[in-house]
Amino acid sequence: MGGGHRMSTYISRAKWGASPPVKTLPLSTKLKGVCLHWMGFHIEGDSTRLVKSIQRNHMSPPKSWWDLAYNEMIDQDGNVFEGRGLTHRSGAQGGTRNNKAYYALGLMVGPGQPPSDELVAAVRKRIKVIRTMQPSATAVVGHNELKATSCPGPDIERMIRAGMFEPRPVDVPIPDPLPDLGPLKERVEAIEMEVAALYADIEALYEKAGANG
Ligand SMILES: [Zn+2]
Repeated sequence: MGGGHRMSTYISRAKWGASPPVKTLPLSTKLKGVCLHWMGFHIEGDSTRLVKSIQRNHMSPPKSWWDLAYNEMIDQDGNVFEGRGLTHRSGAQGGTRNNKAYYALGLMVGPGQPPSDELVAAVRKRIKVIRTMQPSATAVVGHNELKATSCPGPDIERMIRAGMFEPRPVDVPIPDPLPDLGPLKERVEAIEMEVAALYADIEALYEKAGANG
């Protein structure tokens, strides 16, 4: 084993050289959750080239879709490629209802290629991001739960059932957005008392100066 730590990164459309979408629709604010997909064919080679070729395939006849269908694609190193992204509706799930309800993650694996630990960790982190945006978007489903398809394949189906894509507390630590109001209030009151005491001193000095003048 090489033992090198592979660092996952988020790769924006600009960075991977995406073609602009033909048209977009906004992401629903009432997502049910995330739908996982596979590629359905053996994956090898450079991920960026593959993402570009899949976008070309989705946007060319006979499909002629508006854009790469997935909201994001994730490779075996855990790299996240921005597709339609966090603001636009997916086109991957077959039908408006499913595309509105689920954020589409395309896992860059095929038959006989179970997702790596890095890929699974990246999926958990992205699901955590979705749930931070929309706390009620708690579902994690396979494409085959929405329509008759072999996607996302037996490995991912098994891992969904085992709860392996459920975010853990350590995934994407997000600071508590609410300040600790108790101690903060005490500090503000202490400062206000100090300021009031200073003003009292200043007033006393002015009075003294006035009396002497
Ligand atoms: Zn699918």
